[in-house]
Amino acid sequence: MTNEIRIDPALVENYIMTLAQYGAHGETGVWRPVYSPAWFAAQDQIATWCEDAGLMVHRDAVGNVWGRLEGAEGGKTILSGSHVDSQLPGGRYDGVLGVLSALVALKTLKEQFGAPRRTLEVVSFCEEESSRFSQARHWGSRAVAGAIEPEALESVISYDGEPIGQVMRDVGLDPDRIADAKRDDIDIFIELHIEQGPLLEEQGIPVAVVSGITGIRHYHIDLQGRADHAGARPMDLRRDPMAGAAEIISTAVETAHRMGRPAVTTCGMMHVEPNAASIVPEKVRFTIDARHPNPDQRELLYARHEAMFKEVASRRDLEISWTLGAEQPPRPSDPELVSLFQQAATDQNVPFITMQSGAVHDANRMADISRMVMLFVQSKDGRSHTPAEFTSVEHAVEGIRVLTAGLRRLAY
Ligand SMILES: [Zn+2]
Repeated sequence: MTNEIRIDPALVENYIMTLAQYGAHGETGVWRPVYSPAWFAAQDQIATWCEDAGLMVHRDAVGNVWGRLEGAEGGKTILSGSHVDSQLPGGRYDGVLGVLSALVALKTLKEQFGAPRRTLEVVSFCEEESSRFSQARHWGSRAVAGAIEPEALESVISYDGEPIGQVMRDVGLDPDRIADAKRDDIDIFIELHIEQGPLLEEQGIPVAVVSGITGIRHYHIDLQGRADHAGARPMDLRRDPMAGAAEIISTAVETAHRMGRPAVTTCGMMHVEPNAASIVPEKVRFTIDARHPNPDQRELLYARHEAMFKEVASRRDLEISWTLGAEQPPRPSDPELVSLFQQAATDQNVPFITMQSGAVHDANRMADISRMVMLFVQSKDGRSHTPAEFTSVEHAVEGIRVLTAGLRRLAY
């Protein structure tokens, strides 16, 4: 039995290009919000491919698609997959590549090595991007983890103002059955994903084994001063919240920069009142998104940010208050799985690095109920969440070979 895993690049390319037709947007983009006709067509295509590969196909209460390769010994499942919903517009690879990689891996293992000892499954989760429902927060994997509270059916609202429970009914799903989607028999979850950043390309490496997923905090900051005439009020007599916001934002960004990789801090949203060219604003509201995968360094980053917010506000005689939005602790990968996949990459002669994920994935949810690890493949120019997103078939195949070799070690 040869040790080398062979993956057909033409099959991988065909799968990617076929799936890209569902919700195709412009030259290279996709527009595929969850529960839309384009999204259902993509899920149907995944189900058909799973059936063609000889997997047992099942759809659960929220619309996740599952393909199962039963193990001779039964027991808990080894699962791999991702999502096929997209940003609006998004690219062809985010999520999709993880679903297709899992499908290709199971198909290849079955063809080359027969039935497994342990049960293998592929999943295409129903919603990861929050592009249609901004508060859905990984609806599909959240349902599998049993973490959807009943109120969410009404409180999670689409960009058109529809509650997600109603949208589910409209497309023939029964939201009262969501609890049925919960699984307690998943031992391991492995998600292959595009990197969505520039590190692999920078180092000329196709694949990364992910040692953990970063921790996130969102600050929603209110900075209040006093509205005044932009010409008549001297600089030394102002309480200008815009000047305060500018200092806070630039200092926070500089703090993350000085801490060095992988600390990151971003201001992506701002509201100004009254938002007029000749008025010193009354109020500025803005967000700070700050991330670090190391728990201690993360706390240090937040402590520095918060002390600075207060200092700037007090020095400038501004009133400051903030609430926390997204708050996700770092998710370390399972150390045994990290070394198993490092070994799998070495065995397959695939160059790899080990790195942290700065983005959140379905793997965050799955880490609540199973051991978790991720694999990254190179993103061209580090681009993602845009039709410009691109991963070469060669790099995808290298990632799939590592995934397949690791699944073989675990299940055969
Ligand atoms: Zn994704």
